[in-house]
Amino acid sequence: MTKWISGDGSRQPFILSIPFAPFVQVDKDHPRYRSLIIREKMSEMVDEGIVAPAGLIAHGRGEAFDYLMGEMSTANALRTERAAVACLLEAKHPVLSVNGNTAALCAREMVTLSEIIPARIEVNLFHRTEERVEKVCRYLEREGARGVLGRKADGILPGVASDRAKCTKEGILSADVVLVPIEDGDRAQALVATGKQVIAIDLNPLSRTAQVAHFTIVDEASRALGNMISMVPELKSDHQARKALVSSFSNKRNLQESVALICRRLQEIAAKGKS
Ligand code: ATP
Repeated sequence: MTKWISGDGSRQPFILSIPFAPFVQVDKDHPRYRSLIIREKMSEMVDEGIVAPAGLIAHGRGEAFDYLMGEMSTANALRTERAAVACLLEAKHPVLSVNGNTAALCAREMVTLSEIIPARIEVNLFHRTEERVEKVCRYLEREGARGVLGRKADGILPGVASDRAKCTKEGILSADVVLVPIEDGDRAQALVATGKQVIAIDLNPLSRTAQVAHFTIVDEASRALGNMISMVPELKSDHQARKALVSSFSNKRNLQESVALICRRLQEIAAKGKS
């Protein structure tokens, strides 16, 4: 069925040529164009079993914070992304953790980042079934991922209840740096407690994940990963710059600045009398 989503009621169609939403027609001038397209994709990914239904709620929470921050990568986010790339490049055994939402939104970016750092990819699902793990692994492999970990979980991350603790010895368990986009607080806390450096991508600077991570990238995951990919070549050849970026980074300052930015934006909007 073809869907029509129009900004001004004119029903001028814009036919998308993106692979995941071939039957959606959205007016390109619609003020929430990108958001609507991504919502369509997320609900299709639920139908395919990649995203859990509860993942849509987490997505909505992220959207709300993105809206507050102007739906763009802030200077503060870019600074953190740079420090996070430096940390990944300095790591001995970096691992990129992928859940359903991350796969649906940025499989290709995760695969590219894993190739150029280089880092292993491990699938870890909040709502884990063997079938879903297989689906997410295959989805990543279709995007070019090689050596994806997570199908055979032979390790347990201490301090996490339920199946989310399942991980691999070769991947998460032996990692020194773990990137966790769109993560929940319990698992982020448990990763920190094992002594790993944790890089979170989380639009909510107040979430438990954001608060416990060592590097909290307050940016939309696919935007953040795109930025990070573009930062790798320059930092790859500059060990001194990497060390300086990691040692001078303060996540406390980063989070304070993220919250302050939201406050400033709300004050500006209130001052203009614009709702
Ligand atoms: P916590 O357990 O860390 O306190 P939470 O209970 O909100 O947080 P989840 O429901 O698992 O955790 O949500 C995941 C987090 O990811 C939320 O903070 C949400 O704002 C954020 N998020 C959702 N979508 C995106 C996205 N596309 N990019 C970045 N962050 C996102």
